[in-house]
Amino acid sequence: MSTDTITMAPHHYVDILISYGAGARTFAPHPYGHAVHTLSARILEEPDVPMRLGFCPDGICTPCRFYDGARCNDIFPPEFAPAAPRAKMELNRMLDLRWYERLGARPGDTFTARGLAERIRERMGETADIYREIHTDEECAERQANLVRGIAVVMER
Ligand code: SF4
Repeated sequence: MSTDTITMAPHHYVDILISYGAGARTFAPHPYGHAVHTLSARILEEPDVPMRLGFCPDGICTPCRFYDGARCNDIFPPEFAPAAPRAKMELNRMLDLRWYERLGARPGDTFTARGLAERIRERMGETADIYREIHTDEECAERQANLVRGIAVVMER
């Protein structure tokens, strides 16, 4: 069992929890080449793995084809979420700042994956406003339901 610390932007971890809540238990590589599949599997195997909070680029971004060694250079198309920043790195930072405020946490704080899931469960409240530029109310409701289920998946490992 590895105990290497995972560096994780909060919104990326939330996305992983949502995928668990939607039923994902096995994970295929994404065309971007990022590490969502490997870290999603690892967290299920090692729910007490240390997770240090950060911003993008994080441990998920490191192998991604959009990571240039310093930044994410992915840009959203004009038709996607017009009220959101075009640069994915900028949008991610906006989401993560909202999550930090919500969680009462700061970059550099370290939790176990299970402990961070618990913190999210305790403090997430209504999450629709965090994603207001990019998801409809219906999407937010579905994501929140899956987030609750996904947290339970990690807590019960
Ligand atoms: S934030 Fe950018 S670099 Fe990180 S995984 Fe997503 S597309 Fe890749």
